Amino acid sequence: MNIHEYQAKELLKRYGVRIQEGFVADTPSKAVEVARQLNAQTGTNWFVVKAQIHAGGRGKGGGVKLAKNYDEVREISEKILGMQLVTPQTGPEGKKVHKVLIAQDVYYPGESQPKEYYMSILLDRATARNVIIASTEGGMDIEEVAEKHPEKIIKEYIDTRVGLRDFQARKIAFALGLEGNAHKEMVAFIKSLYKAYLESDASLFEVNPVLKTSDNKILAVDCKVNLDDNSLFRHPDLAEMRDILEEDPLEVEAGENDLNYVKLDGNVGCMVNGAGLAMATMDIIKLSGGEPANFLDVGGGANAKTVEAGFRIILKDPNVKAILINIFGGIVRCDRVANGVVEAYKKIGNINVPIIVRLQGTNAQEGAKIIDESGLKVYSAITLQEAAQKVQQVLA
Ligand code: GDP
Ligand code: MN
Repeated sequence: MNIHEYQAKELLKRYGVRIQEGFVADTPSKAVEVARQLNAQTGTNWFVVKAQIHAGGRGKGGGVKLAKNYDEVREISEKILGMQLVTPQTGPEGKKVHKVLIAQDVYYPGESQPKEYYMSILLDRATARNVIIASTEGGMDIEEVAEKHPEKIIKEYIDTRVGLRDFQARKIAFALGLEGNAHKEMVAFIKSLYKAYLESDASLFEVNPVLKTSDNKILAVDCKVNLDDNSLFRHPDLAEMRDILEEDPLEVEAGENDLNYVKLDGNVGCMVNGAGLAMATMDIIKLSGGEPANFLDVGGGANAKTVEAGFRIILKDPNVKAILINIFGGIVRCDRVANGVVEAYKKIGNINVPIIVRLQGTNAQEGAKIIDESGLKVYSAITLQEAAQKVQQVLA
């Protein structure tokens, strides 16, 4: 699960990390109101209006803008709220902005220039360790830094049996060229970030940029967090941070019905029990000249209810020209699945796309008979090859 920048910063703050302070708003007048509140709290007269979407690169897409007074806060918020923000990470269709973060401008000039760094912690599966990645090239795309200046990427692997050691945090701060108070604050920052990462069961904490202000303080200007979905049951406070407006509505509906659904761009919808079989089915669809419209795993107990929910979700995708149902009847009997398909088909009504049902396993023949005798635009197949051929025929 992803969370918004403002939520990630709240989380960091709980761990004692200094952040670019701010408040979230969903209307322009609320934006002005929270800007005044921020002025009262921090004394700042300049603000940054930041689009809150689950994607990075917002700055490049025009989703991060400086406002030098309350009128500008209003004007910029009016522009950003409701816009379809396109960034290098959203894809060409962009993402709709529902909230903005009004934050204090922290790039104020002083004796020295503020400087941006990069810092992230993630799980490195190859070494089965957590790794801290840091760079003096903050504010930039880290992939680009890794490609053009690999020598500017600092990596520190953490042995999970002993955890992050103080010397490792100091080593990173030295490698970033920091001294004095900034060095001390960076060490504390790294330790807090690591604690936040561990205790939230995250797979990623990325702060880009980490800022060294002109008065040598270290603070988080941006933060991206990926949480492990499987751990959310023990973090009710984090689970509450979920924003379904950021998710694909069909995937949300599938989740509510305990279906594993991922929308794709093709024309053949598929409904399968078991993730492995679903992958194989997507392969057959390709082999037959089609493109899968989705991945859909109905799980172990395919029955009339799950089949109906699956149907409804697949049919909401206008690109779907045919549906392939591929169920292996092990525990669940094929005749029951066939009845489920027929029932769901009749219940939904006006289904205009042909459906090929491949049932294999317990009572496969009985299942095929039910399909064939239903009088509906539903065709049975016993083998994978037969199913592929039938898909090819209906697409032609
Ligand atoms: P991202 O583009 O989605 O990664 O969003 P960020 O929160 O990282 O903001 C993008 C860029 O906006 C940063 O790299 C900074 O250069 C700039 N920025 C963010 N906060 C401030 C601020 O307080 N003042 C100024 N002048 N620039 C800022
Ligand atoms: Mn950023």
